[in-house]
Amino acid sequence: MNAVVHIHDLSFAPFLSQSTIQTRIKEIALQLDAQYAGKDPVFLAVLNGAFMFASDLFKCLQCQPELSFVKVSSYMGTQSTGRVDELIGLQTRLQNRHVVVIEDILDTGVTMDKIFTLLQSEQPASIAICTLLMKPSSYKGKHQPQFVGFEIEDRFVVGYGLDYKERGRELPAVYQLIQ
Ligand code: 5GP
Ligand code: MG
Repeated sequence: MNAVVHIHDLSFAPFLSQSTIQTRIKEIALQLDAQYAGKDPVFLAVLNGAFMFASDLFKCLQCQPELSFVKVSSYMGTQSTGRVDELIGLQTRLQNRHVVVIEDILDTGVTMDKIFTLLQSEQPASIAICTLLMKPSSYKGKHQPQFVGFEIEDRFVVGYGLDYKERGRELPAVYQLIQ
C-alpha cells in the first residue's frame, strides 16, 4: 500500500487505504439500512467504476435491496467530456420504487444530472445518490448526494474500480495522481 503505482505514462501515490475504505463502507451501509429498511429499495450501481464499491457495500447491507447494474458513457482520459449517451441495462420497473444510485465518484456532476433525468422519467418514489468519492470544488450537479464516502480535492484518482485509460480498476485501494 505504500508503493507508488505506474499506469501508462502517469504515477500515482497511495491515497485511501483498503482498511480506510472498508471502515467507511460499513458506516455508509448503516446509514442506508436506517433509511431503507422495509422500503423495498432498488440499488443501481453505475458500471464500470462503481463495481468494486458496490460489491463491498452490498455485502454490508441488511435492508434486503434489489440490486442492478447500469452503464453510461461520459468520460475519457483524465478530463470529463460532459457527454452522456444513455442508461443501459435497466431491466426493473422503477415506478413508485425507492432508488439509490451507487457511483464511484462525483466530479462535475454532469453524469449524475443525466442519470437523474433518465431515472426521473421512470417515476420512482424517490432517488438518492450514494457515492464513494466526491470532489465538492468541481461539483455543479443539481442534486446533492445523501451518502458520500469521502470528499476529496480536485485531483485525479485511480483504483478501487476507478481507471486511468481502462487500467488500474483492480487496485484494492485508491491512488492519487502525482503532479
Ligand atoms: P462527472 O460527470 O461528475 O464530471 O464525472 C463523473 C465520471 O467521471 C465518474 O463516474 C468517473 O468515471 C469519471 N471521473 C471523474 N473524476 C475522476 C477521477 O478523479 N478519476 C477517475 N478515474 N475517474 C474520474
Ligand atoms: Mg463512473
